[in-house]
Amino acid sequence: MEMAIIRPFSFKNKFSHLIHSFLFQIIAIFMASLLGLMVVTTFDFISENNLGLFNWISIPWGLKIFFGLLLIDFSDYWFHRLDHKIPILWRFHRVHHSDTSMDASTAIRAFPTEPFYFTLGELLISIIFGLDITSMNIFLLILLPTLFIQHTNIQYPNWVDKTLGWLIVMPSFHKVHHEQDQFYTDSNYGVLFIIWDRLFGTFKTKPVNEIKYGLKEFEGNKKQSFTYLIKSPFINVKRNTNKKT
Ligand SMILES: [Zn+2]
Ligand SMILES: [Zn+2]
Repeated sequence: MEMAIIRPFSFKNKFSHLIHSFLFQIIAIFMASLLGLMVVTTFDFISENNLGLFNWISIPWGLKIFFGLLLIDFSDYWFHRLDHKIPILWRFHRVHHSDTSMDASTAIRAFPTEPFYFTLGELLISIIFGLDITSMNIFLLILLPTLFIQHTNIQYPNWVDKTLGWLIVMPSFHKVHHEQDQFYTDSNYGVLFIIWDRLFGTFKTKPVNEIKYGLKEFEGNKKQSFTYLIKSPFINVKRNTNKKT
């Protein structure tokens, strides 16, 4: 859709970029049923055994669903921060950050273990608070299209960032997270809601047209290919922080 709507293309080799990203998606599709099974089994286990805080106290169903949405996103925020802080996790997460160009297909360019990693955190917090699977369903229903939009070259007026941007991770915020300069990479960890970054002091902005995407150590066509990227977590690549600040 982005290719059809947004022209001229923001960078060359758009089709080869899409194909390399899509190969990651094929693996993700195959693993999705396993992931789904993991989610459904856990939520069945929570409700059958009355696990977690919300099953022990009396709370209206609507509020439980609402807090569930926030808590699942809260877990993603912290798991995302850990992805950047712990070297072994960064090796896998950097596949998503390695992209030197940016379009909707960057959203699906992630190492296949990443969805499991984030789901693990979401399920853990669901057990602790006794969440309902409806929270998870609504969360994913909103998140999946949002993830694609966050990576598109969509143009929108500034006032949207200044209003909706108090609550939601806007495309211009997530793109700052993809900046090569680690001062900016270490910011805007939010997945759906930006409130955690604003609350924990990791919210940063930079004009989108000044952002240099990717990682210095992953520059060059060879290192942008699916075959290199799928092997890359097992290759010792020294981080080039490109720190200016
Ligand atoms: Zn990240
Ligand atoms: Zn991203």
